[in-house]
Amino acid sequence: MGQDLPSRTEVIVIGGGVIGCSISYHLARLGITDTLLLERRQLTCGTTWHAAGLIGQLRATRVMTELAKYTSDLLFELERETGQATGFRQNGSISLALNGERFEELKRGASMAKNFGLAAELLTVEDVRAKYPQLNLDGAVGGVFLPKDGQADPVGVTQAFARGARQRGARIVENCPVDTILVEGGRAVGVRLVDGQEIRAGTVVIAAGMWSHELGRRIGVSLPLHAAEHFYIVTEQIAGLPSNLPVLRVPDECAYYKEDAGKILLGCFEPVAKPWGMAGIPEDFCFDQLPEDIDHFQPILEAAMARMPALETAGIHTFFNGPESFTPDDRYLLGETPEVADLFVACGFNSIGIQSSGGAGKVLAEWIQGRAMPADLIDVDVRRMQPFQSGRRYLKERTTETLGLLYAMHWPYRQMETARGARRSPCHDRLAARGAVFGEVAGWERPNWFAPEGTERRYHYSWGRQNWHEPVGEECRAVRDAVGLFDQSSFAKFLVEGADAVKVLNRICCNDIDVPVGRVVYTQWLNERGGIESDLTVTRTGETSFMLVTAAAAQARDFAWLRRHLPQDARCHAVDVTSGLPMFGLMGPSSRTLLERLSGEELGNAAFPFGTSRELELGFARVRASRLTYVGELGYELYVPAEFATHLFDTLLAEGEGLGLRLAGYHAMNALRTEKGYRHWGHDIGVDDTPLEAGLGFCVAWDKPGGFIGRAALARLREQGRPRRRLVQLNLTDPGRLLHHEEPIWSGDRIVGAVTSGMYGHRVGASLGMGYVTGDVPADSGWLASHPLEVEIACKRVPVQAQLGAWYDPENTRIRG
Ligand SMILES: Cc1cc2nc3c(=O)[nH]c(=O)nc-3n(C[C@H](O)[C@H](O)[C@H](O)COP(=O)(O)OP(=O)(O)OC[C@H]3O[C@@H](n4cnc5c(N)ncnc54)[C@H](O)[C@@H]3O)c2cc1C
Repeated sequence: MGQDLPSRTEVIVIGGGVIGCSISYHLARLGITDTLLLERRQLTCGTTWHAAGLIGQLRATRVMTELAKYTSDLLFELERETGQATGFRQNGSISLALNGERFEELKRGASMAKNFGLAAELLTVEDVRAKYPQLNLDGAVGGVFLPKDGQADPVGVTQAFARGARQRGARIVENCPVDTILVEGGRAVGVRLVDGQEIRAGTVVIAAGMWSHELGRRIGVSLPLHAAEHFYIVTEQIAGLPSNLPVLRVPDECAYYKEDAGKILLGCFEPVAKPWGMAGIPEDFCFDQLPEDIDHFQPILEAAMARMPALETAGIHTFFNGPESFTPDDRYLLGETPEVADLFVACGFNSIGIQSSGGAGKVLAEWIQGRAMPADLIDVDVRRMQPFQSGRRYLKERTTETLGLLYAMHWPYRQMETARGARRSPCHDRLAARGAVFGEVAGWERPNWFAPEGTERRYHYSWGRQNWHEPVGEECRAVRDAVGLFDQSSFAKFLVEGADAVKVLNRICCNDIDVPVGRVVYTQWLNERGGIESDLTVTRTGETSFMLVTAAAAQARDFAWLRRHLPQDARCHAVDVTSGLPMFGLMGPSSRTLLERLSGEELGNAAFPFGTSRELELGFARVRASRLTYVGELGYELYVPAEFATHLFDTLLAEGEGLGLRLAGYHAMNALRTEKGYRHWGHDIGVDDTPLEAGLGFCVAWDKPGGFIGRAALARLREQGRPRRRLVQLNLTDPGRLLHHEEPIWSGDRIVGAVTSGMYGHRVGASLGMGYVTGDVPADSGWLASHPLEVEIACKRVPVQAQLGAWYDPENTRIRG
């Protein structure tokens, strides 16, 4: 310390690992050079210096792939620009499958790669042998080769970012630890250094690796990440090892291999990891290693010696154990925090920080400059996390699982096994007693399906129909023919009340919410680009009061959006009432009869029309009932104060028995909504999709007084005529195959789109999905009818029908009751 530091700067970046340096570099590229990067010790001294340096490109999601791809595209350019070597070489990578299901996963990945513009080659066992003759291929069934993957020197990459940033005018200061972030009026305004000096700034960025959790905690910002021990060994020199060997991944043996100056670096993603740093990250940590744990590594090493016999005799030069940060869902944390404005984060990189560094630095710099998410970064947006997830016990438990999941089978519908049971509906035990098999969303335990008496209450994962296929079919048929009861307590609910509530909400919502009391409005919230930030219902409960209902996973994000868009002087306030207001969905043709019997009221279409909401007396409870549906049948959402919920549940079950009532879960709901073409935010619609492209133009109140956020961008799109992309409904001609996500959609020899979600529809008896058709094709009904399409599943093309409307009851006669 004792350095001559400014008292004010435009942006302060905390942390001089690969991420902080990339952010400084990319800010400078945007012309933001009045920046100060503060590193407590030396650049790279945290996690970065000891990374294995694998630079892969294909990730689980489109956006993470794009960011990794940008990094590799950048590395050569960075080296040329700065003169600092990055050690980047593109020898490609091989992923090897040791069983058919893993090969299916790799093939699905290869198909997905095509969507993202990545080259991917399927390999037979003989092809693998030709590329990597050092391997024993016993038990192998095939592989995938990604020619553009490679490896780099993490320290070189970081120094290149730092040099590039400095060359463009940014300032980087080492040995300068930040004590805390200064917050005034809910905004970050600077930092206080450990020596007490304060530096003011318009923006503060936390890029402090595993220290980020604590920096956030001190100012009430939740950054759910936890360090875990992460291992590799480096062998002695192995004679004859070519320097152009591709990186090798053998996920079924939890191992990766990298040629490194004539040696092999063997790293692992073991199934049960070792969380580290429970009492905090040591203040003096600097280029440190953690103690060896040979016993922990032994099973990986044994399998590796069998896989690559040269390892048996090579001798181990280095046994390395270093900490890396993991998040509860293995995706990093990026963006402006919901708790404190002008505070941005980039941390929790789950062992892909080097390969993601370029892309993450670029989009965060753009986000800082534009004060808006520059692309669809929902997958990595820090606002997806719930505050409880930064709890230490939760993180420690979850981290034992997340590290290993990176190489585990990525089964569709795979559920987390650790840190379960955090958030439960009041009826949780009742649901469990009736066979519920739970899944987890945002910490909520939610019944995904109900296992029939005498069957196992657990998932049997596969790429085809899983063991819940038939039970879910029964649930769907009950919803179609009688009535289904869904516990939807996890849905987030907010109240907005006050004299200005109408005005403020009408600016945020693209639909018109200035409706008579008792009406429910389906609407989206848009960003300035016209993209969909949220998909929700707004119920006018009084002249100046509204209830907003959104998805469980969007609770923190949507509430933050709402609060940010309430002007400071507005005469209204917003409160999150999720915990106090469980909700049941009662869906199906007998739902009305059931409610009439319980309430003693006549609830026909005239008394209780679709899209309205009113109070009903059900059992002992006064319940807010809204006549809505996400499943395409006559149905009601019942909002009940928490203390009445179990009694109401029992009452509904008892009265419903004679009407064929059946409990139904989220898999059934997903199947039913897919048949109806109802969009799911985060899958079918998101921040880069406009209502016009998503077929939600009917929710846009173009002419309401005062307009709405995003109207100008949307109006420009409307003027251009047909949208550049259209969401279409897909129906596989082979009902035995299933769509999940990101399968390419082909028209002849061109990829014209990709699948956004898929599910088997039991009411129509077909394997369905949705996806965008993009580019220069019109994708209107005429074009779709005259152009046969195919969907690529695991490198095989399957014919698919496509249309704009729903497959089930497109005229909505069932909803009208
Ligand atoms: C064994 C191992 C192998 C890996 N292999 C790969 C790989 O092959 N490919 C890949 O992409 N990734 C890999 N990774 C992951 C990668 O190393 C990390 O994701 C990446 O280095 C994270 O960078 P960072 O900048 O977020 O964190 P760090 O490198 O930890 O940087 C954070 C910096 O912030 C500083 N700091 C903290 N608190 C303060 C404060 N209060 N004031 C000022 N400065 C502060 C720290 O000193 C530190 O230098 C591996 C990790 C491990 C452990």
